[in-house]
Amino acid sequence: MGAAMTQDDALSALSTISDAARIRSRKLKGSIAALVVDASGLSPDERSALEERVRKAALDIPGVEHARVVLTVSRPERKIIAVGSGKGGVGKSTIAANLAVALARMGKRVGMIDADIYGPSQPTLLDAHTRPIAEEKTLIPVVAPSGVRLLSVGQLVPAGQALAWRGPMASGALAQLIEGDWGDTEFLIVDLPPGTGDVQLSLVQKARPDGAVIVSTPQDLSLIDATRAIDLFGKTGVPVLGLIENMAGYSCPHCGEASDPFGSGGAEASARELGVSFLGRLPLSAALRIASDAGAPPAGEDGPAGEAFAELARRLLSQLETIAA
Ligand code: ADP
Repeated sequence: MGAAMTQDDALSALSTISDAARIRSRKLKGSIAALVVDASGLSPDERSALEERVRKAALDIPGVEHARVVLTVSRPERKIIAVGSGKGGVGKSTIAANLAVALARMGKRVGMIDADIYGPSQPTLLDAHTRPIAEEKTLIPVVAPSGVRLLSVGQLVPAGQALAWRGPMASGALAQLIEGDWGDTEFLIVDLPPGTGDVQLSLVQKARPDGAVIVSTPQDLSLIDATRAIDLFGKTGVPVLGLIENMAGYSCPHCGEASDPFGSGGAEASARELGVSFLGRLPLSAALRIASDAGAPPAGEDGPAGEAFAELARRLLSQLETIAA
């Protein structure tokens, strides 16, 4: 016991070396020192040099004859947010693109993974049509004019080729996109294919998002549809950050005034009943459709739509903080 203490104390000599802050753990067993060293943010050459310096410093300690140095790299602090919907055509991709742009406009570093195998539309929505290049099999995301980085399943196959992908193929493709070179990206949005079937389930399992957003239209908001989408994330232990109601009411193209032919408040009430947060609503708006489909998401500009998406993005961030707390 006493001897072990002396040996462990011996390793404390390492706290004086210039790389001390990178040493995560140190142990001495007999004459063998085992060290774990954080090599985050270093180039391959710098990593080898660090490993060598620490090994040498350990071997300089009296009694140490062997030094095992293990380098670790801490995972960047990155949040993955999945955007899903109970069915297609509700504006899930449009909202995912605008949320990404709104976050980028707030100064966040944002990436988008377009995993919508049935209709990958993010290259169009974000106006990023270049194909990504691969470096040592790692895909380099393309950068949209908004600054959002993008990788899309649509980029993995020749343009126009239909994607009749089954679960395993789709999740293989998603893995390739997730393992892309996202660098210092802080928020990674995953645009899932619409629906709540096995393909969606395997994609959620693969993406392991920190949270999910569900997009729904007022018509779609039967308890059953929303429950299915919530169940999909519940099954995989992914917290639902909230519900966004799209195409809710009508925004007049002339005066911008919003009217509610179907009444309002239904989505909010359903969300409450289902125990999920309500993030907000967006009206049916020709301007939003035209701008988004033309690759100019209105979230990137001033005006009511830009402000609406900024507010949604702020609520999303606060929900993320709430679940992390
Ligand atoms: P999904 O991803 O759910 O299949 P999309 O985002 O592709 O849906 O949207 C389907 C169509 O609806 C697109 O043409 C889109 O521009 C349009 N759209 C989405 N949201 C709105 C809205 N709030 N007002 C008008 N059109 C919208």
